[in-house]
Amino acid sequence: MAILPSSIAAQKKLFSIVIPCFNEQEVIGETLKRLIELTEAIPQYETELIFVDDGSRDQTAEILIRAAKEDSRVKVISFARNFGHQLAVTAGVDASSGDAVVLIDADLQDPPQVILEMIDKWEEGNDVVYATRIEREGESAFKKGAARWFYRLLNRLSDVPIPLDTGDFRLMSRPVIDNLKQMPERDRFIRGMVSWVGFKQVSLPYRRAPRFAGTSKYPLIKMIRFAADGILSFSTKPLQLSIVLGLIAACLAMIGIVLVLAQRLMTNNWVEGWSALMIAVLFIGGVQLLSVGILGEYVGRIYNEVKRRPLYIIESKVGFREEAPPST
Ligand code: UDP
Ligand code: MG
Repeated sequence: MAILPSSIAAQKKLFSIVIPCFNEQEVIGETLKRLIELTEAIPQYETELIFVDDGSRDQTAEILIRAAKEDSRVKVISFARNFGHQLAVTAGVDASSGDAVVLIDADLQDPPQVILEMIDKWEEGNDVVYATRIEREGESAFKKGAARWFYRLLNRLSDVPIPLDTGDFRLMSRPVIDNLKQMPERDRFIRGMVSWVGFKQVSLPYRRAPRFAGTSKYPLIKMIRFAADGILSFSTKPLQLSIVLGLIAACLAMIGIVLVLAQRLMTNNWVEGWSALMIAVLFIGGVQLLSVGILGEYVGRIYNEVKRRPLYIIESKVGFREEAPPST
């Protein structure tokens, strides 16, 4: 009879939750508590909580490792340095073995209870359940406005439709994860990559809460870089912008040439065109620099890509079956 419970356990589906963490000591204890509560609300699944410590300089790693030693559901991957949110998520996904994997931020902005609704939608046969923000509380008007504007611009530029107002908070089925793992690109924009994979995807509207504690780890400069990754990884349209600007400059130059020639032939004081000359030189210089800059962004990314460095470096793993630090 002792065989029975373990054979039932063996049939349970495994459910993974991936949580990227960077300097989250103020909130991580509460997040751990709420996620463990959540796993208790879904006893029909085996669960694993994979925390990826993205090179935190505070107590985050210590708190997590202590939890992992007490609770076998908690697993911790520690990066050798800060590699950024998207790579932390990637490492968690790579290490996960669940039939479904959920990505959630550590700051409780994405309410864990929403995961229960995601599971229902997954059990109904959907492969990706992405949570769409119908409201973002506690965020600055600037951030909300910038995000709104950005997702709409991205959608116009990108060849694959990327859902509006949707972050990485989502559930993905194993087939989606397996395909995502085949995409080794470096400048990762995971929400777009998941859209690109396809399968059955549905939206789940939710209200984004304010941060539970601590401050945002996405300062303006990181936000801009992330937005650039989204656009440059999913569109080559900015390159076409150079052509359009070049055409405009050429047309204006044509008009300029006619005007200059007319002045030269019909009047005596033809030296007067000095300001026109300066304007033309500066304008064409600006267009050229902008075009070279756009080109440079793509070339830089190609350079980064061809170096074929590992995406991230793991310093240690706790709670996994094999605990040797692999170098991927
Ligand atoms: N994060 C990370 N590495 C970073 C920056 C952020 O792993 O370099 C994590 C962070 O701990 C959080 C999530 O990514 O769990 C989202 O970050 P944050 O809440 O600061 O971003 P915001 O919600 O303000 O956009
Ligand atoms: Mg946040």
